This record gives sequence, C-alpha cells and structure tokens, in this order.
Amino acid sequence: MNRPPAAHDGPRLRVDLAALAHNWHAVRRASPGGRIGAVLKNDAYGLGTAAIAPRLWQLGCRDFWVATVDEALAVRACLPADGAAAGLRILVLNGLAGLAAADFAAHGLIPVLAGRHELAALAGHAARHGERMAVALHLDTGLTRLGFGAEDLPYLLPDTGLWADARAQVWVTHLGRFHDPGLPQCLRQRERFVHWTAQLPRAERSIATSSSVFAGPDWHFEHARVGSALFGVPTGASSAPLQPVASLQAPVLRVTEVAAGCEVGYAGSYVAAGPRRIATVAMGYGDGLPFALVNRGHLILAGRPAPIVGGVAMGMVGLDVSGYAPGEIRPGMWAEVYGRQQPLQTLAAAAGVAANVLLALSARLAPHRCLCDAGEGA
Ligand SMILES: *Cc1c(COP(=O)(O)O)cnc(C)c1O
Repeated sequence: MNRPPAAHDGPRLRVDLAALAHNWHAVRRASPGGRIGAVLKNDAYGLGTAAIAPRLWQLGCRDFWVATVDEALAVRACLPADGAAAGLRILVLNGLAGLAAADFAAHGLIPVLAGRHELAALAGHAARHGERMAVALHLDTGLTRLGFGAEDLPYLLPDTGLWADARAQVWVTHLGRFHDPGLPQCLRQRERFVHWTAQLPRAERSIATSSSVFAGPDWHFEHARVGSALFGVPTGASSAPLQPVASLQAPVLRVTEVAAGCEVGYAGSYVAAGPRRIATVAMGYGDGLPFALVNRGHLILAGRPAPIVGGVAMGMVGLDVSGYAPGEIRPGMWAEVYGRQQPLQTLAAAAGVAANVLLALSARLAPHRCLCDAGEGA
C-alpha cells in the first residue's frame, strides 16, 4: 500500500485491488465459458489505468477495451512488453476515428470499425504490410451510435474484398437499454445480432456488458466486455455480489456551533431552523461532488451519515453534525464521500446522476490515489 504524502489535505481516492479481483472472479463465474474483456475507457473509469490494468493482467485478463488510441497506448505501457505473445489484445472502441489503419497495426491495436466509411482505409493493407489487419467491427443493432447497420451488411459478407485485407476478431454490438437486458428492445437487438452475424465471417461475438453478463448464458456468446462490474458499480438490477473498488474521503476543516437563522454556504441555500453544529469538509464540485447536492445526500462521518447542508462549492461542502456528541466530530477527521460505508450509487441517486458519472469525476483525484490490495478494512 503506498500512502499519499502525509501533508496532503484534500480529498483522497482509495483503490482496492482486492475488491477488483473479487469482482473479476464474480464476472468470471457468471460466464465461465467465454472470454472476459475489461473495458478501461476514460482512464479505467477514473480509477487509473496504471493501477487497474496490471492487476487484471495478473488475474488472467488478456482483452482490454478502450475508447481511444491514447488510452490503448496507456494500457500497453503498463503491461508486460511481450504481452502479445501471451495473448494480449487491445481493442479501440472509437474505431479508426480518422487515423490511418497502419497506425493501429504498427502498435498492435485492434480498431473496432465504426462503419462503412472506414473500409476504404483498409483497402490494400495486406499488399502493403504483408498480412491482413486484425479488426473488430461494431454492428448497429439499435443504439444508433457506431457500427454497420442492416443496409451495410453486403459490405461485410464473406465473399467481399474486405477480407483480403482484414481479419475479423470480434463482432460487437451495444445495447440501448443495457441496464435492463430483459426489455423487448434488448431482445430485438440480440435477435438482429444473431441473425446478422450468422451471415458474416466467423469471429467472437460480444454483446454482454456489466448488467447482461449476469443475465444468463443467452447473453454470453464468446466474449463479454465488462467495465462497471469490475469496479463494483452496479448498472442494472443484478444482485451479483460486487465489492466497491473506489472509496473517496475528504477531511473536516472546521466544526462550529450556529444559532437559529444562520445562513450556511452561498446564497443562503440553507438557513438553520434552530441551533446547529456545522462541519465544513474539503470536498466540492471541483473534486467531483455533484453541484446538485444542495441540501441533499449525506457523507459518512464516524460511521454514520451526516446530511449535506447548503450548496456544494468548488472545494467545500457543509454537513449538519448536530446529531453527534459535542466534540465527537473534529477538524482533521475524514469523511467518507463514497466507499464501503456509503455505496457510490447512494450518493449518485441523491444527486440524480448515474453511478458511473460520479466515478468518472474522481479521475481528477488520481494524483492523490492510494492503492491497497488487502481486501476488507485495509
Ligand atoms: C462503456 C462500454 C462498455 C462497458 O460497459 P459497462 O456497463 O461499464 O460494463 C462496453 N461496450 C461499449 C461499447 C462501451 O461503450
């Protein structure tokens, strides 16, 4: 465990790699036969690729999905140099995004082609490089974001010129209502995916993500791409026993007694109805605490929830600690913003945002991250 500098006095993010391992095994058990790829876009959902990717590699993960080439190179940089020989694949979800196909090939990256407009970039690749280029391909079965649609399938059929220059590794589709794979719209997307891929060159099929991987074998096919679940963030109704990987703490700066009528924070958004004790905590919207938490939600102090009072400033927020014994809450104590005592999703719900939004906002705290790999209570 490496600790942040002792002098650090702002919010700190703790990343629990033992919880990551626990969640990896939970996903592994849900889909025992298929491949599990880890989705590490946005610097591993804000937790830090450099911490997350090597641990997943150790656990046996060999497929890493990212959004951009920068992210792909960051993953590559923290894995063994001879990773490719051990089966490493890094798949770039944004596709070529205007870059040359050769740039992907040179770095051993696999673009997930975003549509017909990217095919011209592959023409002649085999002649120029002596081998076909490994690609994955998005199929747009209903999300209307990226991918080949029904009208584009003729360009992908087995007898087209594309396959002289490219070899398909994975067919990918993404659900528009990923949080609830049982919905008829999701079932229709799956039906299209199965129907379409049956006509196309054989490759792994990947539709399952964090919620659908727990929705039974009909979703697994050959490859599940999982992000949130690895980090312990539930994305659907699944009751999979996941552990939170991220916890965020912030220090109490001051505690004061106020009289009835006292305004707390900007613009008098909270006015004490009676005598109150108010703690000021160093955590604000600049650190990822949603601005919407005006007199809403709690942070955890001394094991109990303390309500947020007033608004969220750039680096501070007020808590009503009148319910604690006098002197119990002191400057220098740490409040848990989210973690094992308050699930991320509880605070996110109070703010009216998805749990992943809150997690992504923690990226800014990466320099004050500490890692632990000891599980409970470390
Ligand atoms: C983000 C993303 C995923 C991972 O989704 P989770 O719900 O976090 O598992 C998978 N596939 C695509 C295309 C994505 O954009």
